[in-house]
Amino acid sequence: MTRVAGERRRRVTTRREFGEWFTDHMVMLTWTAETGWSGRPRVLPFGDLRLSPAMAGLHYGQVVFEGLKVHRRQDGVLGTFRPDAHARRFQQSARRLAMPELPEELFLDAVDAFVRRDGGALPADEEGLSLYLRPVLFASEASLALRPARAYTFLLMGFVTGGFFSDRPDPVSVLISREFSRAAPGGTGQAKCAGNYAGAFLAQQTAADAGCQQVVWLDAVEHRWVEEMGGMNLFFVRGTGPTATVATPPLTGTLLPGVTRDSLLTLAEERGYTVSEERISVDQWREESESGVITETFSCGTAALVTPVGQVRDGENDWLIGGGKQGPVTMELRAALTDLHQGRSPDTWGWVRRHPRPVELHHIENEG
Ligand SMILES: *Cc1c(COP(=O)(O)O)cnc(C)c1O
Repeated sequence: MTRVAGERRRRVTTRREFGEWFTDHMVMLTWTAETGWSGRPRVLPFGDLRLSPAMAGLHYGQVVFEGLKVHRRQDGVLGTFRPDAHARRFQQSARRLAMPELPEELFLDAVDAFVRRDGGALPADEEGLSLYLRPVLFASEASLALRPARAYTFLLMGFVTGGFFSDRPDPVSVLISREFSRAAPGGTGQAKCAGNYAGAFLAQQTAADAGCQQVVWLDAVEHRWVEEMGGMNLFFVRGTGPTATVATPPLTGTLLPGVTRDSLLTLAEERGYTVSEERISVDQWREESESGVITETFSCGTAALVTPVGQVRDGENDWLIGGGKQGPVTMELRAALTDLHQGRSPDTWGWVRRHPRPVELHHIENEG
């Protein structure tokens, strides 16, 4: 890739929506019941696939995915954030859908191979951009038999993303979904599977129609306990200053165990906050927000990092959190996370997988 191509790409990236433009390559692996995994990951040009119309994944939804990010660190080195944790969750998701588990080592190989080839797409001179990696595993066997498929395809693709990194993320407004549930006990709520998203879009649309940016999910049994926001986990801050406490709903089996959630629990504790995993009811959320006990609420996930929640709507009820503004604990934890990503703070927990310089970066440097 030349400098000019880099310039062009950057403009294209910022104009398109999240996930509409991809780098030049993808990584592929296949699995069959007879032979298992097909050796090491192969790097191919990003492009269309030939698939059978009878592909099982298309009909029965055996599809799981991941989302993780590569950042350019202060020293110029590319680092992937907690790929091992994503690899393990990918296995857990696959297991829940009766799919083969990709060994962690092959997942990491795929990440390495991709970053080596396309990591250079991440501009060196623009802070706040990151390379979002999307691994996906789907049943590719041509069979409509109602049983787990006997052939699967793994792909890893990526794209450059930005915008989510702004220093002053605007607080979002949320609608509590009373009509729809995301996940039920015994269901697939803790798996990152395609169907969970398909089942959520209508609720998301309902929220948008009501003038809210996101939907908040309650537990499916009592419709009382706050679980998640869209595709992100939620945190609640009580109090202010050094004695503030930070709480997030426990992983009951219907929540997606976010890597960001896990990271923030650690980072908040490290900063001296009392952290807890605790069920919070909608009534509690409203009453404590109105009385000022809950001072902040934020959502977190790989794509959007840490985003303040400013306003909540629940039927006739409508309330602000922290006056509808972004709060200091939210912003502190967001900064703690981005400092880690970008190598401004030490990698105390060994969360960052550092990559050798990507192929394309060498080209660029050699040209200059
Ligand atoms: C992916 C996802 C999250 C966030 O997980 P991270 O590992 O932090 O990106 C939260 N909730 C749902 C439903 C998700 O799909």
